[in-house]
Amino acid sequence: MPAGDAKPLRIGVFGGTFDPPHVGHLVTAVNVRHALDLDLMLLMVNNVPWQKVGSRSITPATDRLAMVAAAVADVPGLEAGAHEIEAGGWSYTADTLTTLATEYPGAELFTVVGDDAAAGIRSWDRADEVIAGSRLVVVDRPGDPVELDTDIDWVRVEVPRLEVSSTDLRARWADGRPLDYLVTDEVLAVVAARGLYGSEEHG
Ligand code: ATP
Ligand code: MG
Repeated sequence: MPAGDAKPLRIGVFGGTFDPPHVGHLVTAVNVRHALDLDLMLLMVNNVPWQKVGSRSITPATDRLAMVAAAVADVPGLEAGAHEIEAGGWSYTADTLTTLATEYPGAELFTVVGDDAAAGIRSWDRADEVIAGSRLVVVDRPGDPVELDTDIDWVRVEVPRLEVSSTDLRARWADGRPLDYLVTDEVLAVVAARGLYGSEEHG
């Protein structure tokens, strides 16, 4: 088939702090990739998440990238995205989409967000660029439904709703409750090897 007839790649960008990555992220990534027939789903690790700075201490980006890379290592079609860490500075999806459009010319890009993140999309830096440069995909998280901007042509994907958050996981680590099945064994191994979340204290 001549190159010009090749179908454009379909690439999902699921951005997050992933501090740490958990089953909610992974189940979402796998199911959205399946539902939308994506060639690749990038779990894009924020370098400096502007929404979260100042509210708590954030695990270094390289450690968060190592956890995400470990979580998806054996999962076909899922990859950890290091683009925002390599770019340095604040992480903005608008810039990431520009980088990906250059890396994968002609690809169709999908920005994937949980409904909590979707509700705040107008506060994102250059939100219009994100909306123009990708299809916006939203998945519901447990809890009250959020109001979405009706001017945006959202793609809704149903995924199993798992009531898991990184915030809850960090609290579990802090007081020694088990994390089994909420994060993968591969992620737990990275946490232990790097002594993250005070894991040295609990052994
Ligand atoms: P934190 O509690 O630190 O905010 P988080 O669990 O919300 O962490 P983030 O890294 O903030 O994880 O989220 C990255 C993306 O994953 C966001 O779009 C968020 O809505 C989505 N997400 C997080 N947890 C889930 C979940 N359990 N189910 C579906 N989507 C999720
Ligand atoms: Mg969050």
